[in-house]
Amino acid sequence: MPKKDGQGDCAACGGTCCRYITIEIEKPKHRVDVDEVRWFLAHEHIEVFIEDKRWYVQVHNRCKHLTDDNRCAIYDDRFDVCRQHDPEECEASDGEPDAIEFHTTEEFDAYRARKKAEKKAKKRKKKEGKK
Ligand code: SF4
Ligand code: SF4
Repeated sequence: MPKKDGQGDCAACGGTCCRYITIEIEKPKHRVDVDEVRWFLAHEHIEVFIEDKRWYVQVHNRCKHLTDDNRCAIYDDRFDVCRQHDPEECEASDGEPDAIEFHTTEEFDAYRARKKAEKKAKKRKKKEGKK
């Protein structure tokens, strides 16, 4: 989370990491879980992403302690999750994160259809290999 003195990348990036929360969720395997992810994505300011095979829901919402000049107003008393966030290896310095992102139910549905087709093709290939 932003460095106290606002030096380096934190000053330039505009407090990117203080403008959302991320919560890990189970990989949606059953219909009810899939429906829940679709419901998440029906809301504004919500994103779901997969990173390293783990699933997350991200809520884009500014922290109340982020000041207008993008500093942390409670820096010495900030939360554990903020302390663990390393400005040297954060989303601002990493470039494009290696993640699959869904912003809408349509994107998620298209991903599921693609996965289903890939699975079918793999099964078919396996069957043909046995002949
Ligand atoms: S995203 Fe990185 S550079 Fe930007 S405020 Fe957070 S820690 Fe600093
Ligand atoms: S508490 Fe401070 S460091 Fe943590 S998210 Fe809020 S503004 Fe950022």
